[in-house]
Order: sequence, then C-alpha cells, then structure tokens
Amino acid sequence: MVHFSCDLCGKELLPESDRRYVVKMEVYAAAEPVALSDDDLDQDHLEMLGEYLRDLEASGSPDSELPPEYKQLRLDLCSECHKKFLRDPLNKEAAKFDFSEN
Ligand SMILES: [Zn+2]
Repeated sequence: MVHFSCDLCGKELLPESDRRYVVKMEVYAAAEPVALSDDDLDQDHLEMLGEYLRDLEASGSPDSELPPEYKQLRLDLCSECHKKFLRDPLNKEAAKFDFSEN
C-alpha cells in the first residue's frame, strides 16, 4: 500500500483518518503568441502555425520545441498545509522580512 506524507510539513497521511490534498502545478516559459499580419495568412504559414501549436501540445516529447524549463510538480498536502497553501500559494509571508514580529 502506498503511503503518503505531506510535502510541506512531512506529516504522514493516513488514508483512513487524514484528508489528503493534491496540488498539481505546471511551470513553463510563456510562449508569446505569433504576431500575424494579413500577408502571413497564406496556407504555408497556417501549416506552420498548426505545427507550432501541435508542438506546444506535445508536452514532454523529446523532439518538440518546448522550452527545457517545462516542469510538472505534484504535491501531497495535509489539510493544515492545504489551508496554508490556498491562503498563500507562493509563501510570500515567509519570503518577506518582517522585523516587527516578536
Ligand atoms: Zn502538512
């Protein structure tokens, strides 16, 4: 049987007593939309555009033009960390230096 633990706090998640939340993230370099003029809209360019879009969809295939920065993340969170994550997905609270605390 597969055991899960929270990827944030490390707490073990028991399937019978703990609710487990899954976070899926996709990180990739944003592809700028191709600027088209009227002259570009002949058949060749449309085919090229079609290939370009197919490449974008073929995520992860080695011969695609996808940027190497592409990454898919999957996190398992306990209910506590799930709440924290939704409140502050980028963990900004921890990132800023708040000297007024304590
Ligand atoms: Zn947790």
